[in-house]
Amino acid sequence: MSEPGYEVFWREAISQIRTILTEQEFSVWFGVLEYLRSGENEVIASVPSTFYRDQIKIRYQEIIETTLKGLTGKDLPVEFEIHPRNKAESAAEITNEEVKKNDSSRKKAVSFEDSREKSPPQPKDPHPQLREDYTFDRYVIGENNNFAANAALAISRNPGTAYNPFLIYGGVGLGKTHLMQAIGNYIHENSSSKIIYTTAENFTNEFIQSLNEKGMAAFKNRYRHVDILLIDDIHFLENKSGTQEELFFTYEALYNSKKQIVFTCDRPVSELKNLTERLRNRFERGLNVDLHPPNYETRFAILKNKVAAGNIPIPDGVLDLISKNVSTNIRDLEAALTKLTAFVNMVHQPVTIEQAQHLLRDMFASPRQANISIELIQKVVAEYFSLSANDLKSKKRVQNIVYARQLAMYIVRDITEYSTTEIGQSFGGRDHTTVMYSCDKIEERMKADPNLEPTIESLKRLVKEAGAKL
Ligand code: ADP
Ligand code: MG
Repeated sequence: MSEPGYEVFWREAISQIRTILTEQEFSVWFGVLEYLRSGENEVIASVPSTFYRDQIKIRYQEIIETTLKGLTGKDLPVEFEIHPRNKAESAAEITNEEVKKNDSSRKKAVSFEDSREKSPPQPKDPHPQLREDYTFDRYVIGENNNFAANAALAISRNPGTAYNPFLIYGGVGLGKTHLMQAIGNYIHENSSSKIIYTTAENFTNEFIQSLNEKGMAAFKNRYRHVDILLIDDIHFLENKSGTQEELFFTYEALYNSKKQIVFTCDRPVSELKNLTERLRNRFERGLNVDLHPPNYETRFAILKNKVAAGNIPIPDGVLDLISKNVSTNIRDLEAALTKLTAFVNMVHQPVTIEQAQHLLRDMFASPRQANISIELIQKVVAEYFSLSANDLKSKKRVQNIVYARQLAMYIVRDITEYSTTEIGQSFGGRDHTTVMYSCDKIEERMKADPNLEPTIESLKRLVKEAGAKL
């Protein structure tokens, strides 16, 4: 199969980006970044370590993708593969001092670099697996994460006793990894505990490697003799029975010697599939807390905090604009900020509301940002027909209810990304075929009735307006 080959575009994009960076900055970050290959809809680049991957992602992924889009007219996400070059470039060898030294030209744009400079000298070396900026200090507390953050702090102060295990769950970009690492950083700073942070994916890979290399004893030794074990994204373990088994025994060893274990997961443990009962039971044993998407006030506070820390000249009006339009998660808020920061660095003056609106228009228009849930659509459609949302979920077969229900399903299908199965579930546990049938019916009706389309359009508008007010 021949490759689409975006290499030429890649090279052009990189040379365009070069013009807006200092030579030093360019060589630090782009000197290690190499084009690897193209997929159908993405470009894969290589970086020498997770450190570089994470930093490059935070700093430059947006601008690379935006530039590529400008050149190709296509959304081409950039993915990074780690290909260590030689020892000197591995993550552990790159000290923060070096980064700071090499990076002073840009420090205003990257908040955590800045604060690192302001904070008093660390009495201790940073933990090699933890990001230094993932601390409690940097974690803005709102009603969405209040309980989780306080529990995490309690655990940090009293590991192994307060809540064990501690499991944080919630959707992407809501701050699970940050909170988990904040626990690690806190304990690292205040004790000599042996801490391991890893992802479930990494744990799995290491486990598999240890099988091949007969390194089982070393693997067990490493994981069963720690004081604090932090395992991120355990949903990765679905279907991996061998690794589940190993984790179970690791868990038992640590738990019985009162060592603190912390997990994160992208959904409640009860919703994980193909997980052994005994491991599910262990996950659920201690304290499970969830993170929710932040509300407007918290979104604004998070942005405010980040621009203050990074000394980025972005006025409150623009932060308000972002807070109103980006409602999904904190990662998306950060992406908006990164984009504006790149712009500010280019033009060397504060960004105006109009400029921000223009720069972020695609992000704002994304259906993900619309705060639109199935419940909201049901509510709006029900109100429109003077029915209740429960009528739409009920089994009632009265003609006007059936019609409203079909319309609501059609709109959900049209403007959200829910699957027909999820839609069916939310409409009183109906089957996905019923949802498909309803959508077909509405489409048929639209062909026959010229008034229906405008009705649907105005309903969609009502839904979006209601979503924006949330
Ligand atoms: P998850 O692991 O849930 O996908 P992350 O912990 O990676 O999410 O968070 C995504 C980004 O948002 C990170 O850069 C993190 O620092 C930031 N973040 C998340 N929650 C907060 C918060 N409450 N205050 C400040 N920054 C946050
Ligand atoms: Mg995470």
